[in-house]
Amino acid sequence: MSTIAEIDLHLWLALLMIGVAPPVFVFLLFRTAPYGRHERRGFGMGIPGRVGWVVMESPAVLLFAAIYFLGDHRFQTAPLALLFLWQLHYVQRTFVYPFRIRAGRTMPLLIVLSALLFNVWNAYINARFISQLGSYSEGWLADPRFVAGTALFLVGWGINLRADSILIALRRPGERGYSIPRGWFYDRICCPNYLGEMLEWFGFALAAWSLAGLAFALFTVANLAPRALANRRWYLETFPDFPRERKALIPYVI
Ligand code: NDP
Repeated sequence: MSTIAEIDLHLWLALLMIGVAPPVFVFLLFRTAPYGRHERRGFGMGIPGRVGWVVMESPAVLLFAAIYFLGDHRFQTAPLALLFLWQLHYVQRTFVYPFRIRAGRTMPLLIVLSALLFNVWNAYINARFISQLGSYSEGWLADPRFVAGTALFLVGWGINLRADSILIALRRPGERGYSIPRGWFYDRICCPNYLGEMLEWFGFALAAWSLAGLAFALFTVANLAPRALANRRWYLETFPDFPRERKALIPYVI
């Protein structure tokens, strides 16, 4: 059973995420989040990068699953399929990716805590919608929105995974330096991993047909598009032979 108060709360939390996305986008255009290649002094204590990834992403797996399994629709096919898509991404991101990266760096605790808070918020609105507040018919798996959204999600997931793997392979164990990634989408754009991530969450929003999914997709753009632009500037400043025609995020466009 969901109360009117919870339906209102859920709506406001999803609208709030949509509302904060534009200011976050503008802020991050001018102040790049200080982790990885953009690490800077003055952001307080740091923790090992691997630990940071596991801690900040854990709510997206564990809290999401806990909230999902409290919902009345938890054993219906469409919610289970959406749960599967979500966890396909987040189990990898939380418990596999951090152990694949060649991470010698620390990550500011401030970044870890803000991402953790965001993941709690995001897990609640998305998990609660798919297993309780939303309602999917028996035929939803054959609905064009679910089919197209799932296809988009899987394409994005594949791009994100391969793009991250190419970056990881640029370093040998113990190395911390940077080089120019080449080949595949990297010949056209600097950040195919971010492009893949955005496609995934727009795909998920379409497959779930939810305001919560759309809110997360928009927030992902607000978070990653400015970082892709900053990464391109960084490559141009760092490597004199960096190909100037390589865009940040969308081939031939930006
Ligand atoms: P980056 O592309 O900055 O880095 C990915 C990994 O590759 C890091 O270990 C980085 O090392 C290393 N690396 C990057 N470029 C090079 C290079 N030129 N040479 C050698 N090594 C390199 O990605 P992020 O860390 O920002 O994000 C990681 C993943 O998390 C991505 O898939 C991204 O889509 C996802 N993400 C999703 C968000 C969302 O809002 N949904 C938010 C943030 C990330 P180092 O750390 O030392 O720089």
